[in-house]
Amino acid sequence: MKAAIIGAGLGGLLAGAKLSRAGYDVEIFERLPFMGGRFANLEYKGFRLSTGALHMIPHGSRGPLALMLKEAGAQVNIIDSNPMAVIRKENGEEIEFHDFQKELPLTKRVKLGTVLAYSLKFKPKSDISFRNWVLKYFDDEFLLRLADSFCGWALSLKAAEVPAHEMLEIIDNMYRFKGSGVPEGGCGAVTGALAEVIESEGGKIHTKEKVDKIIIDKDRAKGVVTARRTMDADIIISDTGHPATCRMYECKDAAYLEKVRNTTPSRGIKICLSADEPLIGHSGVFFTPYSHRINGLNEVTNADPCLAPQGKHLVMSHQSVLSDDLRHEIDLGLDDLKKLFPNKRYEVLLIQSYSDGWPVNRASSGNEIGNRTPISNLYVVGDGAKGKGGIEVEGVALGVRNVLNELDIS
Ligand SMILES: Cc1cc2nc3c(=O)[nH]c(=O)nc-3n(C[C@H](O)[C@H](O)[C@H](O)COP(=O)(O)OP(=O)(O)OC[C@H]3O[C@@H](n4cnc5c(N)ncnc54)[C@H](O)[C@@H]3O)c2cc1C
Repeated sequence: MKAAIIGAGLGGLLAGAKLSRAGYDVEIFERLPFMGGRFANLEYKGFRLSTGALHMIPHGSRGPLALMLKEAGAQVNIIDSNPMAVIRKENGEEIEFHDFQKELPLTKRVKLGTVLAYSLKFKPKSDISFRNWVLKYFDDEFLLRLADSFCGWALSLKAAEVPAHEMLEIIDNMYRFKGSGVPEGGCGAVTGALAEVIESEGGKIHTKEKVDKIIIDKDRAKGVVTARRTMDADIIISDTGHPATCRMYECKDAAYLEKVRNTTPSRGIKICLSADEPLIGHSGVFFTPYSHRINGLNEVTNADPCLAPQGKHLVMSHQSVLSDDLRHEIDLGLDDLKKLFPNKRYEVLLIQSYSDGWPVNRASSGNEIGNRTPISNLYVVGDGAKGKGGIEVEGVALGVRNVLNELDIS
């Protein structure tokens, strides 16, 4: 069986590695000169920065991505964060994420326990947003800020933009799989290891080769066309999101096209800092609910010192984009950093913004429309088609799992 995969991002490579191991003849086409998409390393001044991700795997060595990497035979060492996360309070004090409930008055704390237990079991059926869900039960400033900080860090959205049912799936997964981790060598080590698996199984990855067209005949995908070749395939998997995928063929399914129009991407800004002394001092997420723009930071060199030159620390902040004035958004982010670390010395290495065709997520969380398309042997993977309750690359792994299930591959 021949599989053509469009895009060598994490989604395409994960699918490619699993299919290669299952005996498929895999060819991956990547338009850029490098593999890994937004999960690749970017060497800069001796630091291992990245094309997108903050070098974090949301559920660390126990999550869906870690499991799929193991199954695919990809050699990746994930260093679990310890502590999982810390919250910086308004007065500058820091508390462990697990202890956030202790910040609430006793009555709200008890209510949170019961409401959460009930809602995790019976997820809301309506489209109520996570912000409105928090407001409905608690109307608490700290919880609302924490919700925005978490959604901004993990999904690059405001809590008002995330459906409560999706957020509760995410919380469920946090209880199930626990906290984050850092892949040794950065995110490029993950996509690099997957590429090795594919190539060792005889699969091919063609960089600098954009797929222009998907050939459809009698409602079946027959192959892909690039400037250099036409390749026949039994199945086609696109790692480019639903909107870009249906631009590669003439899709006539009006109901599907309507859903595709609603899969809007999420936007974000990452600021990479170099510091001689640790700014954070641990390898977990540092949530900053009282900053104006920055939702959180990490200091990945506490997990893997090789991500920076010897004696240096790599700190990265993330913020969702709240207005169309990018310069202003960046200035507010830089201002937040000054306030968070008033007496610390650091250098701004690189500021990267993400939107449109190179976003934080191709489909913002809660907006996904699954992995199928109207064409039965054409699937979409990647963060434009994440699985339920999957944060970022965990959602990518859950989506790939859905496709493998459809193909009866374990
Ligand atoms: C600032 C930022 C921080 C993030 N931090 C984290 C984090 O710490 N942890 C985490 O889990 N996630 C994080 N993410 C999200 C994570 O990076 C993405 O979810 C993941 O990398 C998406 O992988 P993908 O395969 O879906 O897409 P992509 O990486 O975008 O891959 C798609 C590939 O398809 C190629 N392509 C597109 N069109 C064509 C075509 N026609 N022909 C051939 N090739 C084509 C593209 O060039 C690209 O390489 C972050 C993202 C950003 C932007």
